[in-house]
Amino acid sequence: MAEIALENITKRYADGTEALRPTSLTIADGELFVLVGPSGCGKSTLLKLIVGLERPSDGAIRVGGQDVTQRDPKDRNMAMVFQSYALYPHMTVRENMAFPLRLAKLPAPDIDARVEQVAALLELDGLLERRPAALSGGQRQRVAMGRAIVRKPAVFLLDEPLSNLDAKLRGQMRNELARLQRQLRTTTIYVTHDQTEAMTLGQRIAVLRGGAVQQVGSPRELYQRPANLFVARFVGSPAMNLLPARIDGERLMLPMAELPLPEPLRGLVPQGTREVIAGIRPEHIGDADGPAGSGGVTFHVRPELVEWLGADVHVHFDVEAPGSGGLGALQRELDLGAEHGDRLRLIARVGANTPAREGEDMALTLDPAGLLLFDTTTGERLGAHAA
Ligand code: ADP
Repeated sequence: MAEIALENITKRYADGTEALRPTSLTIADGELFVLVGPSGCGKSTLLKLIVGLERPSDGAIRVGGQDVTQRDPKDRNMAMVFQSYALYPHMTVRENMAFPLRLAKLPAPDIDARVEQVAALLELDGLLERRPAALSGGQRQRVAMGRAIVRKPAVFLLDEPLSNLDAKLRGQMRNELARLQRQLRTTTIYVTHDQTEAMTLGQRIAVLRGGAVQQVGSPRELYQRPANLFVARFVGSPAMNLLPARIDGERLMLPMAELPLPEPLRGLVPQGTREVIAGIRPEHIGDADGPAGSGGVTFHVRPELVEWLGADVHVHFDVEAPGSGGLGALQRELDLGAEHGDRLRLIARVGANTPAREGEDMALTLDPAGLLLFDTTTGERLGAHAA
């Protein structure tokens, strides 16, 4: 059993940097858990605390029920794979993979057997006598994984292990990793700054920002029910559109349209709330005469940019949003991208048959069922705590 329990751990470095605010997380035995967040949010710090390269300023870490908070890394039975996986260039694949077992003074026949077993698992069996220089990037990455796997650790910690690979290979290795993890059933924590990687790999994902966990959930939960504006914008590409909005009785006023407040949102708006931030994903804005058009709210735009991606077309357009004050402040704080004075840049994701042309007026339709509302001060999604 290698369930990992973090109990209120914090980390303040010697120079006073508060890298991790009180954090409690439980990672189940055998789970593939992803930590994602922008650079500097504390991902590596959290990983170093778990593996024992750093000690928490406060709190406890339990693995399989045992308190390991003060244990040295070598006594934690964890294997870490970094982005810069250094293989020994003068050793063959076999020797590289055998190295940690030799250090552990395993008998030679056992070492051979285990290396060959793991090599077969990673489809490296034909390459055992090669040196790293004669391997592709993906094969080298697999050797690095192999070196971690032969030790049969209770926990794998993977810190951006694929960032040195090109996009195609990264996708391939990601699938292999997921398959391998399902096979080995070893508790694994995978760290990345890349939300696509997180979404495609994770059974559960924790989104970190400024040393604080913003939300823990499945890819679907993060995408459909983000806890706050940060998660809403961080997950998904192109990012969720945000708009200043006003509630007047049962009406919702958006910069480009007015509509009845959608039923599911009614109970969520606290009494007296006037200003909110509305969020809508690009796929919930479609061509007015397209399949998403029925039942929606139609408005007219003049596309600034039409990006043809094959199956999808991204239509970039501006809407007038005079004095989008509340949004402005949050926009700066969250680094939500460009503001064009009183205009807001939005993106619709439409089908390949779209009539959209740059500079030509067109009608788009917004699907009210896709609307989310956020508090203008806290950035929390209205209803985030409801279910
Ligand atoms: P991430 O892995 O998400 O990029 P890190 O965990 O490396 O983030 O860093 C989190 C914060 O802690 C950053 O502000 C970083 O500058 C700071 N930090 C990391 N290591 C140290 C250290 N040894 N001493 C002081 N500050 C550090």
